[in-house]
Amino acid sequence: MTFQHVCVLGSTGSIGENTLDVISRHPEMMSVYALSAHSRIERLAEQAHATGAKVVIVPTDSARVRFIQAWSAANPMPEIRVGEQALADTAADTAVTTVMAAIVGAAGLPSALAAAKAGKRVLLANKEALVAAGGLFMQTVRENGAELLPIDSEHNAIFQCLPHTDRATAPTTPAKGVRRLLLTASGGPFRTMALDMLSGVTPDQACAHPNWSMGRKISVDSATMLNKGLEVIEAHWLFAMPVSRIQVVIHPQSMVHSMVEYEDGSILAQLGQPDMRTPIAYGLGFPERINSGVGLLALTALGRLDFEEPNLERFPCLRLSFDALKTSQAACVALNAANEIAVDCFLKHQIRYTEIACVIEDSLGRIAGMPATGLDSLDDVLALDAHTRRIATEFCLLRR
Ligand code: NAD
Ligand code: MG
Repeated sequence: MTFQHVCVLGSTGSIGENTLDVISRHPEMMSVYALSAHSRIERLAEQAHATGAKVVIVPTDSARVRFIQAWSAANPMPEIRVGEQALADTAADTAVTTVMAAIVGAAGLPSALAAAKAGKRVLLANKEALVAAGGLFMQTVRENGAELLPIDSEHNAIFQCLPHTDRATAPTTPAKGVRRLLLTASGGPFRTMALDMLSGVTPDQACAHPNWSMGRKISVDSATMLNKGLEVIEAHWLFAMPVSRIQVVIHPQSMVHSMVEYEDGSILAQLGQPDMRTPIAYGLGFPERINSGVGLLALTALGRLDFEEPNLERFPCLRLSFDALKTSQAACVALNAANEIAVDCFLKHQIRYTEIACVIEDSLGRIAGMPATGLDSLDDVLALDAHTRRIATEFCLLRR
């Protein structure tokens, strides 16, 4: 394996912190070149100090001042770059070999795309990039010889269960012999709650995931199962798989991270602790296996694995996601953008949990009449994303 110089975009988040943990275990194979943060600037300074990062990226000039104030270390201060363009420029920096795309939301799309365009090894945690611009993203990976490794645990599991490859590229047809992809989902904290209780649940309840510790946005998405919907769209693009051949299976223990079903009736599964350091280490080490720091999975202590069908009445966001994927790319962009607004409003106690699906459904309805213009450039995607955010914000304001 050649030595990797890693740019961690979104380093202060849950995936970012786990990535730095794995990198710190392998100083002979990899080091941190750049880090980025949006709000936790003091934490960014600590991370830069601990890793010896050469570059940090912050969103504004005032964040730059905060970083300088927070820098008490005796060692030289890293170069500070400012603004959105700096994220994309650093992802494409010639000094970088590997980019961990771990910014949350569509905000992570331009920098992830820049990494693909620059032909980097892209470790993609930011699923929203594929939901909003899957076709464009995969084409960019192919055209520029980038290496794409899925970090989302389900997609990483599927990647591990597909026929072996030692170079991760973007396929244009489903892998030979594969019948279906089986995406597992925990069902989140409200899998068994009485349906009439759901409208009263709080953000803290929604963020208390039974098995995974994650950022707040993806935790809410897991509770509504919109996360699984985004993952169906992500799987469609990553593995060139038609939606009719992707099945969602509820698996409350979150030990089987996903499965691939083959034509001969075999199902291959990847199992492990629900700890994101496993897929992160897989992506960093690929095609080798490296230590992730994750403990053993004690199968005998676990005892049993359960699987069940998702209930679409309980999880309307999952139904909306399947519909969006079957409808158009524009619908997928709108699904994601409306959800980001809805989740943000829910986390601020401005709308109810059960209204998240209403915001998405309303936004999808409103863009349905739009002319089906091609969304083949980043600017087109970002324009529709911004338009949907305005619609969804208005809807949420009316509900308050
Ligand atoms: P998080 O909220 O913990 O962290 C998000 C990171 O993005 C932070 O570093 C933050 O500073 C940065 N950020 C936020 N808004 C930004 C903006 N507008 N511009 C630039 N940077 C911004 O999120 P997370 O849980 O680490 O998730 C990150 C991504 O990984 C998401 O796309 C999520 O869906 C995906 N993912 C996460 C997990 C998980 O276990 N946490 C699992 C699978 C996939
Ligand atoms: Mg996942």
